[in-house]
Amino acid sequence: HADIAMYRAKETGRNNFQFYTPAMNERALERLHIEGDLRNALEREEFTLHYQPQVDLRSGQIVGVEALIRWQHPELGMVPPVRFIGLAEENGLIVPIGAWVIRTACLQNKVWQESGFGHLRMSVNLSARQFAQEDLVDSIAVSLREANLAPEYLEIELTESLVMADVDRAIGILRELKALGVQLSIDDFGTGYSSLSYLKRFPIDVLKIDRSFVNDITIDPDDAAIVASVISLAHSLRLDVIAEGVETEEQLTYLREHNCDQIQGYFFSRPVTAEAFSVMLKDGKRLQIETTAS
Ligand code: C2E
Ligand code: MG
Ligand code: MG
Ligand code: MG
Repeated sequence: HADIAMYRAKETGRNNFQFYTPAMNERALERLHIEGDLRNALEREEFTLHYQPQVDLRSGQIVGVEALIRWQHPELGMVPPVRFIGLAEENGLIVPIGAWVIRTACLQNKVWQESGFGHLRMSVNLSARQFAQEDLVDSIAVSLREANLAPEYLEIELTESLVMADVDRAIGILRELKALGVQLSIDDFGTGYSSLSYLKRFPIDVLKIDRSFVNDITIDPDDAAIVASVISLAHSLRLDVIAEGVETEEQLTYLREHNCDQIQGYFFSRPVTAEAFSVMLKDGKRLQIETTAS
């Protein structure tokens, strides 16, 4: 890697290779490599979606699913979204990629509905660049129509920073999306700059508590307190709450005792392929809810 990086640096025609550390070389190289390949990935059909179930804590049933993009790179193998979403956001490729995600997720959800597995809410992540697109609402409407999917089974996940960047514009778009009939959620709640009182102005349905808070609820009393109060405040604003990144039974128990509505995390299932998710649905996989004897 060091050799190639040195070569690349010289190629630029300047003696600037002395500024690179080996780690930087690798990152810069990967970036170059990935950026070029990202441009062709859509037409080469290298993207796929993985699906992670969201489980209701009262019934134990799978009630929702989050679509998470994966890039099957011919040489690098499976590339996780952290390694290319930021880049795609910078160069604008996230717009066509994001449109593909929504279209694919809607079609897949329709397939599951038609297979008789009940009706799940499918959520997709929206990036800032997509949110800035003039035709966002129209393109979502087209995806729903093409899949013949009822709008209430699509949920759009937004982040705090995305909606807080331009509050008035955001409220306008969220109202249009609600008029279309889709569900709206705030992802990674607690990591950005906003407050529940502020969020009250947005017509959202669901709050997803970031996994950094969930992670330590059983060992850090501060995180435990934050999670408990976010749940109760969200409920008083008539929002459903999903806890992200639930990995242990202890976390699950705490969340159930504090009336969290749904959980998503490795404890129940990692994100899986559409085929594996179908098997889960067919098997009727559910969360075992112990009835506490009193
Ligand atoms: P996110 O939307 O907050 O998605 C949840 C992430 O947490 C996923 O990572 C998921 O695999 C991971 N996760 C779920 N349960 C657990 C757990 O119990 N423990 C741990 N350690 N992790 C868990 P993933 O799939 O790598 O996605 C990372 C982020 O990339 C997503 O965070 C989202 O912000 C972004 N992303 C993924 N797909 C898309 C997409 O289609 N479009 C856009 N714009 N962003 C996407
Ligand atoms: Mg998400
Ligand atoms: Mg999240
Ligand atoms: Mg509401």
